[in-house]
Amino acid sequence: MPKCDCSEAEVTEEHVHARITRLEQATKFRPVHIRVLLLDAAPPAAPGDDFYHPAISRSARSLPSRMYFDELAVASGIARDSLATMDEAAVLAEFQRRGFFLVHVVECPLDDAAALREAVNRLAPTLLRRLETSYKPKIVVPIGMATAELIPFLQMSGWGDRLILAKDGPFDDPFLGDPQNQAEFGTFLGDTLARSIPAAR
Ligand SMILES: [Zn+2]
Repeated sequence: MPKCDCSEAEVTEEHVHARITRLEQATKFRPVHIRVLLLDAAPPAAPGDDFYHPAISRSARSLPSRMYFDELAVASGIARDSLATMDEAAVLAEFQRRGFFLVHVVECPLDDAAALREAVNRLAPTLLRRLETSYKPKIVVPIGMATAELIPFLQMSGWGDRLILAKDGPFDDPFLGDPQNQAEFGTFLGDTLARSIPAAR
């Protein structure tokens, strides 16, 4: 049985295949020069919810996934109003053109919070190597509370001046998947990010 760095345990062939598929999908939309690297902890469990898997019909995504997709698009400067008329592949191409790229510290879904926390900490040095040798972004933006522990690590590793933070932590929308509360509390992640990320020069 093969191994995967998301877990200490042996994994199935399907697990490895799914990881490769996710990487291939993301690579299609990888900018040559990454300006803004959005950093999340782990991909969603359902393959149809993967950010870089363009949904033919929007209903193919779960509601939180659809909201996540839209908020990241808005973060890159794509107008919220135009999302309704663009297909997802066009949104992803525009996201790429603007120099935005989304990556995960752990490249496999991990539903268990403790396992995710352990994997994020264990893979922090691997992430640092990916940043330094592959992505080389101008700006790094942590998203979701599960990336919080990476922040001091990145600051100590010389990435502090390229980190964009919400107060002292990652950007997070506690109401993703809950449009009513999201609207009521004004927690739209995309708008907050778009305001916080410096414009391209
Ligand atoms: Zn894995």
